[in-house]
Amino acid sequence: MNVELSTKRIEENLEALKAFTATPGNGCTRMPFSKETRDAAEYLKKVMTEAGLTVNEDCVGNIYGVLPGKDRTKPCIMIGSHYDSVYNGGDYDGIAGVVCGIELARILQDEKTNLDADFVVVAFMDEEGCRFGTGYFGSKCMLGDMTLEDIKHFTDRDDISVYDAMKGYGLVPENFADARWDLDKIGKYIEVHIEQGPVLDTKKIQLGLVNCIVGIQRYMVTVNGRADHAGTTPMDMRMDAVDMATKVVSKIADWAREEGNGTVATTGYVKAVPGGMNVVAASFDFSVDIRSVNNDVINRIAGKLRAALDEETKKGNGSYSIDTKLVITPVDMNAEMLDIMEDSCQEHGYSYLRMPSGAGHDALAIGQVKDTVMLFVPSKDGRSHCPEEYTPYESFGQACEVLTDLIKKL
Ligand SMILES: [Zn+2]
Repeated sequence: MNVELSTKRIEENLEALKAFTATPGNGCTRMPFSKETRDAAEYLKKVMTEAGLTVNEDCVGNIYGVLPGKDRTKPCIMIGSHYDSVYNGGDYDGIAGVVCGIELARILQDEKTNLDADFVVVAFMDEEGCRFGTGYFGSKCMLGDMTLEDIKHFTDRDDISVYDAMKGYGLVPENFADARWDLDKIGKYIEVHIEQGPVLDTKKIQLGLVNCIVGIQRYMVTVNGRADHAGTTPMDMRMDAVDMATKVVSKIADWAREEGNGTVATTGYVKAVPGGMNVVAASFDFSVDIRSVNNDVINRIAGKLRAALDEETKKGNGSYSIDTKLVITPVDMNAEMLDIMEDSCQEHGYSYLRMPSGAGHDALAIGQVKDTVMLFVPSKDGRSHCPEEYTPYESFGQACEVLTDLIKKL
């Protein structure tokens, strides 16, 4: 294949897609079921059609482009990623993986490859979960892992539910189950993604062969106390929600450090209510996000969280509740496909590293049930989910060269 030609075509597509943002000049904001996802979807469908694919947008906004194989009853090879973004995110997260999939379809046709089975390029709707606080919406719908209750339950900042947003987008939310695939029809899933961290760029390594995607547990905790006067209520006669909760919060990062091996735990959101300088807090909300390649480690930290909450709220005469937002187990990538990619890197002289992914991806949801691999390209300075996000276009061309080898060998 011609890496330079592929690099040029990928660059053209990604540069054009930069236009579909609600925040021009301040990063990519492409929320699910918005005007911007509609514009990006129409552009992707046009490019897929030009690339010789048969295009179909399903009833939840996932877009598929199919290159038929000789035996259409055989399980397909699927490649893709998502086309939504976070608020003020970058121009490569997700969408670059879709564009690489389309480029692979072009390469396979340029080289007159005889495909045994269908080759399917997918662009998933709403992987980030930024608008509705969810995550993996499109891939979960494909896997049949979504319910109408979920679609009605989750709402955005303006209290618009997924259900209402879908209706506003011209979809019929009740039909969501039609997005489900017969899982026997999917053979392998492949995803190209920017690393979103500093490892490859810092070590000057060209490609990352992802061997495992971390598991994630995400909770929203509320500690309840009692609002009182900050001056007149003696220390031993108050139920201070901030005092109880922060004693727990202060331990969370240390629990992750003690586990080591790449384990991370984060409290990224806190809120004291009513939030007055001279008022003892009645309640305190905080988020907990725990990630590790080892599910036992995640469970252990979640256990410590509950035990610490028991202890501190007992001491402080308060109470607490935990709302579970996400539980997803770590998933190993397919060893056979990793070996083929490693051979290909060596053959073409690309430096590579086998590495875990600390970020979740559609591949995390699909990898729970299907043979899956991910290929990372470097993120400049490790920056992602911000307007500064950048990956040199030639990296995507190199990724396509390795994946062309992989698909031919499969
Ligand atoms: Zn992504």
